[in-house]
Amino acid sequence: KEARQLAKYLAHLGYGSRKEMEAAIRRGRVTGEGDDLCFDGEPLDPPPGMVILMNKPAGFTCSRNDQGRLVYELLPPRFMLRTPPLSSVGRLDADTTGLLLFADDGKLLHRLISPKSELPKTYEATVARPLEGHEADLFASGTLMLRGEEKPLLPAQLEVTGERTARLTITEGRYHQVRRMFAAAGNHVETLHRAAFGPFTLGGLPEGEWRLLTDEEVASLA
Ligand code: URA
Repeated sequence: KEARQLAKYLAHLGYGSRKEMEAAIRRGRVTGEGDDLCFDGEPLDPPPGMVILMNKPAGFTCSRNDQGRLVYELLPPRFMLRTPPLSSVGRLDADTTGLLLFADDGKLLHRLISPKSELPKTYEATVARPLEGHEADLFASGTLMLRGEEKPLLPAQLEVTGERTARLTITEGRYHQVRRMFAAAGNHVETLHRAAFGPFTLGGLPEGEWRLLTDEEVASLA
């Protein structure tokens, strides 16, 4: 790439301002060629279109500019400076742990967040009171109304895994949906963990860590 174009590209990846990148190129900090460029000897960050899979810890919010700890702080600081911007695919509550995706492709983000996609999301919940046995039918009914909403929830699958634990698969992503569903069933969610999003699971990724989706995995979302 021509130096000015390359400087612009590096600036969009968040390495610094265009001016700083022009200077970096002059000083030989950018090496290699084609798709195998390095910055200070390290392979360049992925181009636009990257998708990140994180195992979100509790205590981090999905906002880009909230007070307190942000999920973005768990990524390289450069990733916050990219153009187009990186955004979480929907949000998890600060207290919720588990699978969170990030993407920078507006169309992909829109598609993944859209209720029309009906991508299944699986949550593992611990509730305050013993499950009573009626919850699975209630959630599967397709008639459950959440307070203040006009449309009933789509059917959701509940698998009871213990006296106070269950796995719930929903295809929407309404505000605080899982917590509100258990509240509608007369219970209260104490801990919530997302184990799966569409075709993806955490696969042993430790809490607080992240990985890039492979090209094949990204393609499977298209
Ligand atoms: N439902 C919730 O209530 N909270 C989450 O974080 C995700 C789904």
